[in-house]
Amino acid sequence: MERLSTAFELPCDVWLVIAIKVATNSIADLCRFRMTCCVTRDVGDEDTVLRMVAIPPPHEMNWLCTEIGHPELLFREALRELYIRRNHAIGWEMLQNAASNGVDAAKYALSMELLIRMDDSEDKKGLELFRTLEAGDLLPACYSSCFAVLIISWPDEVHMLKKGEEHTVCDLTRCMTRGHMGLLYDYRRRATERGSVHGVGGADHIRCIRCRVDYEVERYVDIPRV
Ligand SMILES: [Zn+2]
Repeated sequence: MERLSTAFELPCDVWLVIAIKVATNSIADLCRFRMTCCVTRDVGDEDTVLRMVAIPPPHEMNWLCTEIGHPELLFREALRELYIRRNHAIGWEMLQNAASNGVDAAKYALSMELLIRMDDSEDKKGLELFRTLEAGDLLPACYSSCFAVLIISWPDEVHMLKKGEEHTVCDLTRCMTRGHMGLLYDYRRRATERGSVHGVGGADHIRCIRCRVDYEVERYVDIPRV
């Protein structure tokens, strides 16, 4: 049978140009474009394209992303609102929305936010989220997703949530590792920079889950400097 179209055979860079054109028009157009076929879906997810998206006012964005079924995009916007544009209330709402739509990286960022804020009831929810992600071995992938979103900007433009100097999620007085996670993180980081095997493994061997959280918080707030 004769094929109706040879559009799929277009070179990648041509698809990219088309996608960018669509993205600069509106985010709704980009979402429709993505849903056309697997080629447009892949090209529509390229960072080069996403960076060009015409951004509507945040609340409209929040609505659009969930309405059109793209919680992943909502997650990226949430991080940008929180840490780059510093519209905290809006970013927070978007992040919760993306997390409840099942985006693991959003759950991760949400747990980090909750745990840094040191509110007792929120601490509990943050710890629960962390536990689930850790059990599913999802922490490394979630960290990488956050990293990928934030690293596009210059480090000076990214403002992570401030963590109290002496603050630790671990409050168990008898815990042997409590308060040492900052040092461990610095050590791992320097080892990684040297390409040493001592940089591998993070805090996996630490028995206290609250201390493992403290380690992850150190990594998270350090993203702009990595
Ligand atoms: Zn501990």
